[in-house]
Amino acid sequence: MTVSAIEFSRLGPPKLHLYAMKCDKCGELSPWWERNHCYHCGNDSLTEFELKGTGELTNYTVVYYPPREFLGQEPYVVGHIQMDEGVNMPAPVMGVDPDAVEVGTRVDATLRRMKLGHEGDIYYSYKFVVDDE
Ligand SMILES: [Zn+2]
Repeated sequence: MTVSAIEFSRLGPPKLHLYAMKCDKCGELSPWWERNHCYHCGNDSLTEFELKGTGELTNYTVVYYPPREFLGQEPYVVGHIQMDEGVNMPAPVMGVDPDAVEVGTRVDATLRRMKLGHEGDIYYSYKFVVDDE
């Protein structure tokens, strides 16, 4: 889900889809990193399932002292987003005032610069922005 700038330019945004893992047995969705084990029934066969990218912020924290590779972005909001398909995703939420962020806010996934690597290389990943509709 996080790619370098080189991979980003090679793959292009259309190939970097937001997905969850769907259980082949019970159909339950697990987060994308859970590739070998269904949260619900324990089945070990999961398939990528594309998400629409919309959801609701269910909890959050404001980061004032980020890890080194995220320096310069603080303060920023990181939260859990309950996707409309039902699965929960942790992700940064951009464009919200850390003092005014609210649980229940509707958010949309977007591809953004995520962090700097050890050699100054740039990585991209999904972040969420407030849905103003
Ligand atoms: Zn299952």
